Amino acid sequence: MMSSALKRLQGKVAIVTGGASGIGEETARCFSSHGAKVVIADIQDEKGRDLVESIGSHSCTYVRCDVADEQQVMSLVQSTLQLYGKLDIMFSNAGVCSSVKQDILDFDVSAFERLFAVNVKGMALCVKHGARAMVDKDTGGSIICTASIWATTGSEEYMDYTMSKHAVLGLVRSASKQLGAHGIRVNCVSPGWVATPMVSNYLGRSKEEIERLFEPTSSLKGVLKAKHVADAVVFLASEDSEFVTGHNLIIDGGPNTQ
Ligand code: NAD
Repeated sequence: MMSSALKRLQGKVAIVTGGASGIGEETARCFSSHGAKVVIADIQDEKGRDLVESIGSHSCTYVRCDVADEQQVMSLVQSTLQLYGKLDIMFSNAGVCSSVKQDILDFDVSAFERLFAVNVKGMALCVKHGARAMVDKDTGGSIICTASIWATTGSEEYMDYTMSKHAVLGLVRSASKQLGAHGIRVNCVSPGWVATPMVSNYLGRSKEEIERLFEPTSSLKGVLKAKHVADAVVFLASEDSEFVTGHNLIIDGGPNTQ
């Protein structure tokens, strides 16, 4: 149990999209341990409800929300306001990886459109409706999006995913300029490879295999975990980063260039 002096988010209300699994799940746990009320939004109902049971329903709740559907995003924000009276933190994190290997010569437009509906449109809808709630209540707030190390580099196999994460940077940089006057900060985290269910399913490998595979890619010793990303999100959500906006915080242990 964390002492109240160490709690960075006491009295705050947060939404975590893609909160039922991986980075979102770990962040929902961290937000809650830092004293926030958390609304976990996802399309995996069973996992979402199990997580609420594990964290405790006194401090969090699950709302089904497909972020690609604007009506559902609006009602997610409405439910949060009804339940907790305000919204201080929007962690727009839900995302999917490429469903096929994408290179420009064999560019699959349908796969690209499906991915963009979640990773770009969904990301922007959560920023839009989260920010509207903060502007309406005049409370200020912190919005954090999940980009990726692929947001700043090219890719040989995941072109649609790479394009979508570059778009997240554009969203964060633009929205941070537009919302600063309202006291709303907008930042993103850019993780390197983390062995979440998304990556395990995509690569068809276990968590342990993935961690062994990517351990040599960082200059720091050890393995990048969802908790490292969640700790960075807590920093951006909290007043510890009160004058930080429009920032892309890369969390990859430093590239190993040897
Ligand atoms: P994950 O699959 O464990 O979690 C993603 C969650 O998003 C899942 O619970 C899933 O159900 C949910 N989701 C998917 N589509 C949704 C939709 N339309 N509406 C609502 N929820 C939806 O994967 P993760 O690795 O934790 O991914 C979280 C974010 O981190 C994603 O944006 C991903 O692109 C990004 N990311 C992951 C890595 C990595 O290596 N794991 C690296 C960089 C960035």
